Amino acid sequence: MDVAVLGAGVMGLVAAATLVRAGQRVAVFERAADITASAAWRSGGMLAPDCEAEIADPIVVALGRRSLALWPSLVPGVATNGTLVLAPPREPGVLTRFERLTRNHESLDEQAIAGLEPALAGRYRRGLFFPSEGHLDPRRTLLALTTWLGEAGVPIEFGFSGDPGSLLADRIVDARGLGARDHFPTLRGVKGEMALVRSRDVGITRPVRLLHHRHPLYVVPREGGVFMIGATTIESDSTDTNEAPRVTLRSAGELLTQAYALHPAFAEAEILELEAGLRPAFPDNAPRIEVSGRTIAVNGLYRHGWLLAPALAARIVDVLRGDTSPNEALHADMAQR
Ligand SMILES: Cc1cc2nc3c(=O)[nH]c(=O)nc-3n(C[C@H](O)[C@H](O)[C@H](O)COP(=O)(O)OP(=O)(O)OC[C@H]3O[C@@H](n4cnc5c(N)ncnc54)[C@H](O)[C@@H]3O)c2cc1C
Repeated sequence: MDVAVLGAGVMGLVAAATLVRAGQRVAVFERAADITASAAWRSGGMLAPDCEAEIADPIVVALGRRSLALWPSLVPGVATNGTLVLAPPREPGVLTRFERLTRNHESLDEQAIAGLEPALAGRYRRGLFFPSEGHLDPRRTLLALTTWLGEAGVPIEFGFSGDPGSLLADRIVDARGLGARDHFPTLRGVKGEMALVRSRDVGITRPVRLLHHRHPLYVVPREGGVFMIGATTIESDSTDTNEAPRVTLRSAGELLTQAYALHPAFAEAEILELEAGLRPAFPDNAPRIEVSGRTIAVNGLYRHGWLLAPALAARIVDVLRGDTSPNEALHADMAQR
């Protein structure tokens, strides 16, 4: 084995696939019993570098744009029909602020909103459209990546509890998310709560963000009338990462009420799941690649794991080859902006 990848979340699986394509012999080691343990399993799957510019470090935006271009070569089913951003009619200021902080958008009036999403006709007077953004179904994508890796002869060992130091590999890619707090003491978990609902009456076809001064919300469509409704961002990390975080009654109430405000037909939607995940984040909420000995650790993907993983994986390959330092690798896409 040339490279052992620790962690089968989005970063680990995308890194493994990218390394295989670069000609490396790879094996993946995951602590949990199956693929469902990661923050990635509970996420929205939005690929939204332009919208995230509202809050994210410019490195995230630059790497995100690169990832958007890379995703379709990794898995099928990446939608690229953009993002619609709306605000309640009584809160026009939040949309103006969002417009000022972001780029690559088109301003929409009521008619244009109805043209894009007929299901929302007559409900919003102004909106912003980010045509270059995309989204994918995280669970299907994680499963597609494991299938692809299996077919490429990459073993994935679930229930791994061994000492990474004892792995017989030339290099180790540490993509353990919050499980890497032994390596990164400043890493923290930022709780994100979400709901999966099913409705045949809400015909939304692309991610829609509903801005709000206290309870922003997004809805991401999936196949079969399923919608992911997300997500809270709560600095309430438990120090015990072995205990799965849970959704509070207050958060569930707020998420579902806001979804109903976006489209009244959500009132009759079936709740399939209420789940919470912990996003791995550094104090600056930006990602890091760090090399120590034979280990390359990649972490701090915060609320951008899907947005960042392919670009970070490509940079890990560069670092492994000795083409660049981790810091240069992180900033390479910034230079190309
Ligand atoms: C509600 C919610 C919505 C989100 N929406 C989006 C979105 O729309 N777009 C986006 O880009 N991002 C989104 N994110 C963020 C994204 O999910 C994270 O950034 C991403 O999951 C981080 O990826 P990761 O692979 O580093 O960590 P994880 O996905 O958490 O994966 C880490 C894996 O490592 C395993 N592991 C831990 N310890 C060990 C060990 N000792 N040995 C082996 N394996 C180990 C874990 O079990 C886990 O499977 C969202 C997150 C949440 C919670």
